[in-house]
Amino acid sequence: MNLILLGPPGSGKGTQSKILVKNLGLVQLSTGDMLREAVKSGSVIGQKVAKIMDAGELVTDEIINSLIREKLAERNSGFIFDGYPRTLNQADSLEAQLARAGARVDMVIELLVDVDQLIERIVGRLSCVSCGAMFHKTYQPPTIEGICDVCGGDLMQRKDDNEESFRTRLLEYYQKTAPLTGYYHRAGILKHVSSIGSIEEISERIEATIQAG
Ligand code: ADP
Ligand code: ZN
Repeated sequence: MNLILLGPPGSGKGTQSKILVKNLGLVQLSTGDMLREAVKSGSVIGQKVAKIMDAGELVTDEIINSLIREKLAERNSGFIFDGYPRTLNQADSLEAQLARAGARVDMVIELLVDVDQLIERIVGRLSCVSCGAMFHKTYQPPTIEGICDVCGGDLMQRKDDNEESFRTRLLEYYQKTAPLTGYYHRAGILKHVSSIGSIEEISERIEATIQAG
């Protein structure tokens, strides 16, 4: 099974992916995480993408497709794609690569949100530098301020989690990524899940949707 989670920044793709990894044994493939790793390590790709990411713009399809190609060379099923594909070109590329391995995208879940809530979710968001666990200053505060409940690592705010970059990210989403819903609707594999409510409520809805096929 290959699953894509689609939704604007702050819709909960990363949080929900991590839960699906635990409950369903899928492997999370987050291009955002991969790019942040590249920035942290100071690799050639990392140096190229840092400014673009901080501003909230999309990285080129060429870079993304090459990152994904490496991952799909290792396995071609059991993925939960989080934050990828983000353009029609990336969707075509994914389909072609999976088809070559006899695999496909089985389901696409679009997380439906109240756009007015996104900004609050984003600017209060914290993530662990060591293990990637996510927290929120108001909605899900860590037990000890600045410290990860899971591993004791330091909590940081992402550089693109500010109001200006968020607006750019949202615009990029509506212009370039939202059209993918039409693409997957046409393929007959698009499902909708409301991403309003508690993390548990949303994950239950997602799992029910997957189970229903
Ligand atoms: P979010 O979904 O919260 O906006 P991500 O972690 O998925 O955050 O992505 C962070 C940034 O990484 C994006 O704003 C963009 O610059 C870059 N990025 C991640 N995935 C892609 C992709 N598939 N195509 C282009 N850029 C991407
Ligand atoms: Zn941690």
